[in-house]
Amino acid sequence: MTTGMRKIGLLGGMSWESSALYYTVLNEAVRERLGGYHSARVVMSSVDFAEVEAMQAAGDWESAGALLAAEAAALQAAGAECLVLCTNTMHKVADAIEAATDVPLLHIVDVTATAIRAAGLSRVALLGTRFTMEQAFVRDRLASQGVEALVPVGEDLELVHAVIYDELVHGVVRAESRAAYVDVVERLVAAGAEGVILGCTEIELLLRPEDVDVPVFATTRLHALAALDFALG
Ligand code: GLU
Repeated sequence: MTTGMRKIGLLGGMSWESSALYYTVLNEAVRERLGGYHSARVVMSSVDFAEVEAMQAAGDWESAGALLAAEAAALQAAGAECLVLCTNTMHKVADAIEAATDVPLLHIVDVTATAIRAAGLSRVALLGTRFTMEQAFVRDRLASQGVEALVPVGEDLELVHAVIYDELVHGVVRAESRAAYVDVVERLVAAGAEGVILGCTEIELLLRPEDVDVPVFATTRLHALAALDFALG
């Protein structure tokens, strides 16, 4: 039996801890929606995160863009009908990927902005890597869709970034780090945030919706479910 499900191209490995979550969320949602023996049609390219991390640290976004563009083109050649770049940070080079392919890139920021607007919110905290929080590529794209993002500063920013790179991408989940993230979120809520974007695809391994008092926008889950909507649409 054929479902007419379209094939999703996952561009992951950044880090694989979150790519595994994408795969799980996708397949659990297929089970829920279609039941039976159904599972998601997926083709995946998983890069070596060490290469990408070195390019990030060196600020060499051009090489990172070229690397991911080549992987995306290979996914398209392998039959991917859409592209899901499984990281917020590397959406910095989304243009390079789009220029190298002609299947739709389901942009993680657009998916997130849509969910925030649907919840009736317009000002939210944004947690992510240093690149995501300090640079403008995520905040500007959110703003263009009517969502203002408040980011941590100073020690809070350093902490959020360090927990991602020193713990979460290595599969280390610590209660102390969860408590520290909750404190950061509370300070941003006091500054006016009505919700929080878990704007790094590993953060939802640490922070759960029940840990904070405001709505949580978990980018991995939202992105994977948007891909499924595309595949089933
Ligand atoms: N997965 C992370 C993100 O969503 C960080 C790892 C990376 O730099 O790609 O931003």
